[in-house]
Amino acid sequence: MSDTIFMKIINKEIPSDIIHEDDQCVAFRDVNPQAPVHFLVVPRKAIPRLQDLSPEDEPLIGHIHSVITLLADKEGIAEGYRVVANSGASAGQSVFHLHFHVLGGRPMHWPPG
Ligand code: 5GP
Repeated sequence: MSDTIFMKIINKEIPSDIIHEDDQCVAFRDVNPQAPVHFLVVPRKAIPRLQDLSPEDEPLIGHIHSVITLLADKEGIAEGYRVVANSGASAGQSVFHLHFHVLGGRPMHWPPG
């Protein structure tokens, strides 16, 4: 299977505005932001959807959420932000490499639609 756009970003084959990287994950700003702050946190491991997680991925998902809290502080949105993972096309997933959207800097509404 060919690499997704996010694997190309992880491998620095295409440019992106990376705000964090470590041995397990990479975070970069969304190219089409839906809020004043909108970045994506993606595992280096090629997991297509949240629904494809396996028990061995549990530490990775915990790590990603720790990174999200650190980046929320750095980005100045720690007081309130939203984390979204669209799992599957019918949920709105368009890139099939697991990613967590982090949105902040404006009031969030519910339900999200
Ligand atoms: P999804 O719809 O899969 O939940 O979210 C995919 C997100 O990736 C969208 O918000 C979209 O704007 C973003 N995106 C798609 N292609 C690129 C890209 O090449 N660079 C960056 N930085 N974001 C992208």
